Amino acid sequence: MTDHLFTRREILAAFLGVPVALSACRSSVTPSLPEGEIVGASDVIGHKIRDGLRVQPPADNWERTGVVIVGGGVAGLSAAWHLQKRGFENFILLELEPAPGGTARSGDNPDAVVPYPWGAHYVPAPLKENLRLISLLTEMGVIEGVDQDGNPIVAEQFLCRDPEERIYFKGRWYEGLYLHAGADRQDLAQLDKFNAEIGTWVDWRDNKGRRAFAIPISNSSDDEQVKALDKISMSSWLQARQLDSPRLRWLVDYGCRDDYGLTIDQTSAWAGLFYFASRVTHRGAESQPLITWPEGNGHLVSYLYSKSKAKIRLGFAVTDVIPKGIEGNNAVDVVAVDHEGSNARGFHADRVIFAAPHFLTRYLIRPFREDPPSYTLEFKYGAWMVANLVLRDRPKDLGFPLAWDNVLYESPSLGYVVATHQRGLDRGPTVFTYYYPLCDADPRVARTRLLSTDRRGWADIALTDLERAHPAIRSLCTRLDVMRWGHAMIRPQPGFIWGGARSKAQKPFRGIHFAHTDLSGIALFEEALDHGVRAAEEVLSELNRA
Ligand SMILES: Cc1cc2nc3c(=O)[nH]c(=O)nc-3n(C[C@H](O)[C@H](O)[C@H](O)COP(=O)(O)OP(=O)(O)OC[C@H]3O[C@@H](n4cnc5c(N)ncnc54)[C@H](O)[C@@H]3O)c2cc1C
Repeated sequence: MTDHLFTRREILAAFLGVPVALSACRSSVTPSLPEGEIVGASDVIGHKIRDGLRVQPPADNWERTGVVIVGGGVAGLSAAWHLQKRGFENFILLELEPAPGGTARSGDNPDAVVPYPWGAHYVPAPLKENLRLISLLTEMGVIEGVDQDGNPIVAEQFLCRDPEERIYFKGRWYEGLYLHAGADRQDLAQLDKFNAEIGTWVDWRDNKGRRAFAIPISNSSDDEQVKALDKISMSSWLQARQLDSPRLRWLVDYGCRDDYGLTIDQTSAWAGLFYFASRVTHRGAESQPLITWPEGNGHLVSYLYSKSKAKIRLGFAVTDVIPKGIEGNNAVDVVAVDHEGSNARGFHADRVIFAAPHFLTRYLIRPFREDPPSYTLEFKYGAWMVANLVLRDRPKDLGFPLAWDNVLYESPSLGYVVATHQRGLDRGPTVFTYYYPLCDADPRVARTRLLSTDRRGWADIALTDLERAHPAIRSLCTRLDVMRWGHAMIRPQPGFIWGGARSKAQKPFRGIHFAHTDLSGIALFEEALDHGVRAAEEVLSELNRA
């Protein structure tokens, strides 16, 4: 939305609601905004590809390689990490963006005291079944042993410091994410009933001994009773149990918006229950503690990137993948261009690991372009805006003190995480990372709203939203940069997790192996890692057989 088309009041009303907009626009003076820029994601080259950009590299710009990895998010970087670990060096990774990490990338700038996340900001401490994450974290020195039940012990300095979470409601901050203040007996009874239901699912095992909800989800049960939960929404699941306490519904809705960018009405009950049950060892136990760094999962990205840096080409967008056996090919051919859409290069590869989002297969893979398989259309993605606010000092506020995660009860945003928290810097300058998921019913509408709102529009939305809790935030904020994620996360709407599209999309196709987190139906570091390593294993075993 550009300023000449929409007024400030209209933009604020569209994203924060009419009452907030009216109150913010009471004065005729438009408040000034800190400087900043839109840092990504690079939608221009993506839109050129969608609109049919095709290039043919000159004959001397082709090279031969064992494996091409398409996409340097966590899935692609994990595939690279695993290939190298297994002693396989003959690969390259092509990443469209100038920085690695995809939606887990992080940022830094001279005005900020610490680096900060641009997307993913934590992983829960893994349970013992999550072998791939345990292997990575052990190699990084994050895990330092196992407890008596065989679960990994995470070194203290990587666990999120206290206080972890707080919530703002009507002029005050409170501890935790459930709004205890003002809850009556019925609210608390419903919270207990909900927790008891979750406890039942935490302890539930199928006849093969598998949990209903495990991370990665490839370890979860496919029992019909569990799969049936995917047929209804989380909201219907709550309604069927007469769980209608507004505070409880808010908590569950917050969980769905936080992990999936969807409301409880839009989220599959399977995914909603997964959020609450998959990170708990046994009934009644607390959720696993969180592992985090100032730059969030950007720390994990830097580690993975450092392992394969020499083989990673940043700023190279793949425009064409021609599978084996198509047009007489005996290799998988991959064409990539730089940001300008020029400097085309070609690669003849024995195998490709496709670690870009699955919806791109219908723009990049030759026969899918003309005739996309119907399941590719079932992959739908939500849009998110993330803003990083550099502050010269902390805002003063009432009630529970600043935590790592700070949530506003009455806002459509998710609030903010504090990048200095994990460093133990509790005074002075800091960086707030503010998250806003666009939960429109139609994701295309969300993307249009996201991309047609400029940096000034988003900066004003973030500051106006935070002003409810921090009236002085504008005067403290010296810089505000914005990331617009058009295809931020796969949407686990009812029917997607167990509807069959995921398993079809995961099947290798003429030398191409698929790895993106969307194949899990949910966007998590652990899922991207799992698919990256699994695809690398598939490729290695095929190449060894050949
Ligand atoms: C705002 C936000 C917050 C999140 N918070 C968390 C969190 O706290 N914890 C958590 O576990 N997860 C979180 N997630 C999800 C997590 O970031 C992802 O699940 C995970 O990082 C996905 O990794 P990926 O490699 O599968 O996909 P992506 O991150 O989508 O990476 C795909 C890569 O492919 C590249 N690419 C696309 N097209 C091309 C092309 N044509 N050529 C070459 N490269 C291409 C992209 O640039 C990108 O780098 C969050 C996500 C978002 C958006």
